[in-house]
Order: sequence, then C-alpha cells, then structure tokens
Amino acid sequence: MSSLDEAVQGNLAAVIKRINRAALAVSRDPASVTLLAVGKTFPAEAILSAAAAGQRCFGENYVQEGVEKIARTRELAPELAFEWHFIGPIQSNKTRPIAENFDWAHSVERLKIAQRLSEQRPVALPPLNVLLQINVSGEASKSGLAPAEAADLAAAVAALPRLRLRGLMAIPEATDDVTAQRAAFRSLRLTFDALRAALPAVSAAPLDTLSMGMSADLEAAIAEGSTLVRVGTAIFGQRAAVKPDRAEDAA
Ligand SMILES: *Cc1c(COP(=O)(O)O)cnc(C)c1O
Repeated sequence: MSSLDEAVQGNLAAVIKRINRAALAVSRDPASVTLLAVGKTFPAEAILSAAAAGQRCFGENYVQEGVEKIARTRELAPELAFEWHFIGPIQSNKTRPIAENFDWAHSVERLKIAQRLSEQRPVALPPLNVLLQINVSGEASKSGLAPAEAADLAAAVAALPRLRLRGLMAIPEATDDVTAQRAAFRSLRLTFDALRAALPAVSAAPLDTLSMGMSADLEAAIAEGSTLVRVGTAIFGQRAAVKPDRAEDAA
C-alpha cells in the first residue's frame, strides 16, 4: 500500500467512526448519513485511495478540475461506479459541463441555472439530482437563497423534466461554537421539513437529502438531521492555497 493510500484510508476510517458515533449519540441509524468525500485540489490518485477503501461518493467544487478528475478516475478504474456531486458555486456559463458529467448538483440557487441544467442534461443519462442551496447565515453569507424563497423555487425546479429535486444544502458561516453550529443546521432542517410537508404533490422524486456538515462540524449537523456530510480536509488533508485560475472558476 502506498503512503497516500495509508494516509487517506486511515483518515477515512476515522471520519466514518465520527459519523457512526454522532448518529448513535442521537439514536439515528449511521446508515442514514451518506459520506461525500470532497477531493477538490487533490489528484485522481487520492480519489482512488479512498475508493480502494470502499468510498464511492465524491464531491468537487471547481468545474474544470472536477470534469478532468472524473475522466481520469474513469480511465484509471473503469470497473468502479462512482457518484459525482458538484458542490461549488454554479455560473450560468458553466452549467453544460456540470449537466454532462455529474450525478448531483448541490448548489442551485436560481431558476435560470436550474433551467439550463435541465435543458443541457443529456437524454442518455438519468435526470440530474439537485439540491437548493439555502443561506442560513443571513448577511454573513453571499451564497444561497433565503429560506422564505425555498418553496417557490422548489416547486419550479421540481417541474423541470431533466432534474430530480432531492432536498436542500447549506454552508453555514464557520464557527467553533457548537450551539451556533447547531442553530444554523436546525434552521436548514426546519426549512427542509416545511418543504417536505408542502411539496409531495409537486415533486415526483423523494425529498430525502439534507446536505450539511463538513470536517469541522459534522457532529452538530448529524445531530440536527443531516443525511449527507461533505468532508474534505479530514479525509484528504489540508488543501494548498487555491490557484487564481481556480478562484476565478469558483467565483
Ligand atoms: C471544500 C468544501 C467542503 C469540505 O470542507 P472541509 O472543511 O475540508 O471538510 C464541503 N462543502 C463545500 C461546499 C466545500 O466547498
């Protein structure tokens, strides 16, 4: 086993242990929480190290880097079926490569973006799974739509033919204060519950996914009902500073 394999697989096992412990602490089935391994800035080889330990769901948030990594992992390990999630900001001129290459998009916050993703989703692929990104941190965050706007956008997105609306996602303002972490996650959870109560008639797909929690706060997210945690650093290690071309991609 290479040292990369050893490091990634040791970290992955520790993260899975954290998820299990956090779920059991609130009497949840650990299997109700999906682990998304976020490999941004790390090479395809790091993805394959995690894959060798059984990980199949991966998240990327730079379009070009993600598309290249999907192709490269397919070339290196054609026998493995991965699930790729786009979790970064979506610019309208970058929707096509997302629609053509990813299985999920977590960060839809405008109808125009959703319409483009639906139009550009190839007919040979199943519909693209989408989450709406909600701003639970008020003015502290520029990304995501206001909770009060979620129901209208959800109804419009659920009606698009080549998308499957699956739930909500948020990136709360980072804080070490666990009470504040939980309050932000709880607010997303309440928006999700309200949406689920209002939407069954509109959405054909199950609204079953609440994407919240990262390396530093996954315990608080799981305690508040997260069904999918997005974990980068705790699996792959610290990221080097983002290069300017990537910063532009993410802008
Ligand atoms: C980078 C990133 C993550 C992972 O963050 P870590 O703190 O490294 O676990 C999760 N979600 C999004 C949207 C990200 O951009």
